Amino acid sequence: MSKPFSIGVDLGGTNLRVAVVSREGQIVDKITVSSTGNIIESLVGAIGKLFSGEINGIGLAVAGLTDGKKILNAPNLPILREIDFVRILQERFNTPVYIGNDASLAALGESVSGAGKDLNTFVMLTLGTGIGGGVVYNRKLLSIAGELGHIVVEPGGRLCGCGGKGCLEAYASARAMSTVAIEAIELKRETMMVKDADCAITPADIYKYANLGDPLAIEIFKTAGFYLGIGIANYINIFGPDAVILMGGLIGAWDIFIKKAIKTATASAFKELYAKTVIIPSTLGGDAGIIGAAELTYC
Ligand SMILES: [Zn+2]
Repeated sequence: MSKPFSIGVDLGGTNLRVAVVSREGQIVDKITVSSTGNIIESLVGAIGKLFSGEINGIGLAVAGLTDGKKILNAPNLPILREIDFVRILQERFNTPVYIGNDASLAALGESVSGAGKDLNTFVMLTLGTGIGGGVVYNRKLLSIAGELGHIVVEPGGRLCGCGGKGCLEAYASARAMSTVAIEAIELKRETMMVKDADCAITPADIYKYANLGDPLAIEIFKTAGFYLGIGIANYINIFGPDAVILMGGLIGAWDIFIKKAIKTATASAFKELYAKTVIIPSTLGGDAGIIGAAELTYC
């Protein structure tokens, strides 16, 4: 008989977020601590504050590739690979411990208590600095490599952080949009956009200028939206989902960016499959991964 609560953890680069999550996928308590010191000490301390006899197990969401027990690759926080979180936490708390990819677990979280709650099959995309995602198929999280941001949308195109060329992430991520804006300014394209003190431009800046009518800013979002739409059309043709759920800071630019993606996907996907698909925002936002991690203890 499973216990009514689990601990979900988001192992981020600057923060560790630890939450008590109910069987129904509701967060009932949450603490955030810095992950810049001794990560295992901070993690054990934070879990210790929330742990009780009512806890069914612990689930960890990490930005990287895992095999369910170990972290195989964590490009943004390589130190994580050297720590055997599962063994350490199992021994310390005497409870089952699971680990999974954060974007994939965000999809699982949305299926438990978010925008995917009543859906059988959906594709979830996290649109942030990079692009990740997961697929829930017939109400189960598909155990696939799941590098959804690295499908090729432009053969031989822009260089991606993964070493490939023309990946979706190299066109429709926050990092990609900022890079394109900086390149255009350096090429003296006509624009109101200016680089900040760090010679950077955030998507929020680009969005601000797009709303002021800056043609370059609008073009950057529309180009990114076009490629996102190509990606979405491919996922629709493969999975025939009920929905494509989008999350991350970039969906704040829904009216320019996502509208263009929807238009492109409509024109590119197999019509009979697209007819049953809706493209909708996540309802859990940043909590989706934690809720999905906690759900691992019940799967
Ligand atoms: Zn790539």
